Amino acid sequence: MTRRSTTWPSAGSQVVGVIGNPVAHSLSPLLHNSAFDALGLDWVSVGFCVEPAGLSDALAGIRGLGLLGVSVTMPHKARAAELVDRLSDTAALLGAVNCIARDQDELVGHNTDGEGFVASLRREARFEPAGRRCVVVGAGGAGRAVVSALAEAGAEAVVVVARTPAAARRAAALGEAAGRPGTMDDVRGADLVVDTTPVGMTGTDSAGAPPVVDPELLGPGQLVVDLVYDPEITPLLSAAMTRGASVLGGLGMLVHQAAVQLRLWTGLEPPVDVMWAAVDAAVRRKNGPAAQ
Ligand code: NAP
Repeated sequence: MTRRSTTWPSAGSQVVGVIGNPVAHSLSPLLHNSAFDALGLDWVSVGFCVEPAGLSDALAGIRGLGLLGVSVTMPHKARAAELVDRLSDTAALLGAVNCIARDQDELVGHNTDGEGFVASLRREARFEPAGRRCVVVGAGGAGRAVVSALAEAGAEAVVVVARTPAAARRAAALGEAAGRPGTMDDVRGADLVVDTTPVGMTGTDSAGAPPVVDPELLGPGQLVVDLVYDPEITPLLSAAMTRGASVLGGLGMLVHQAAVQLRLWTGLEPPVDVMWAAVDAAVRRKNGPAAQ
């Protein structure tokens, strides 16, 4: 593994990056560069803004330029799963790739969202999913990853609540024996409630909108998670706290899914605390002291 010299980045630096469109907002380079710095690695991560029609060329570029890997974000996750040479079991199950790692001449597609989510539950909220009743709201890419990971972690039940019934059924199937589609009424008896919809996200039409989950269904003894990380405290988390539930925002998942990617690329143990500090500082800079 190449150690960092005094002139960094240099002609010898290993380049990784994030492919998306738009990509300028992505926190992946910040997370990965903070880790490379802490590990003393001569690696650098940058953003690549790629049009959907250019994704195939971009992947050829990974091979051609000798990049060791990339993160993959919207809108490329599903198409990337079709274009790589090989898929991990999880990426094959989900039909979506959020990380590509080069293995010799092969591009291998991975999906680290679910593993990052469960790591965040365990480390940030001290919540062990095994044997617990879980409700996942939303059945898109992130929701599907969460359903699959909770079931794999041994959850007793993983109930999917989504406004599109067919999507709820398909996502619930990823939970195998533990999975079933359900209704908002299931929220009341759940140990864990995860909102995987983008509702409440800054910069969207739903910023500041009322939560998808009725706060009246929430209460003490429950952990409520919102995958949205901007704002850190969404209207759902704010309402859940008022009702006496414990809460967890999406930043932890973001950090941990990036940490898993770093492990795939480098084989090294990621410095999660350093990555957390980097992203935390970036959020504080963006939101100002009032957000502290
Ligand atoms: P996606 O594939 O577009 O899925 C979004 C899901 O939310 C769909 O099931 C959609 O339902 C549902 N939905 C959207 N608006 C809704 C509304 N008003 N009411 C009810 N349901 C609604 O998106 P995604 O990739 O899963 O991402 C979802 C969110 O998770 C985004 O905010 C993303 O930033 C966040 N995320 C966070 C992390 C992290 O590390 N923290 C990682 C991945 C994603 P329909 O299909 O019926 O439209």
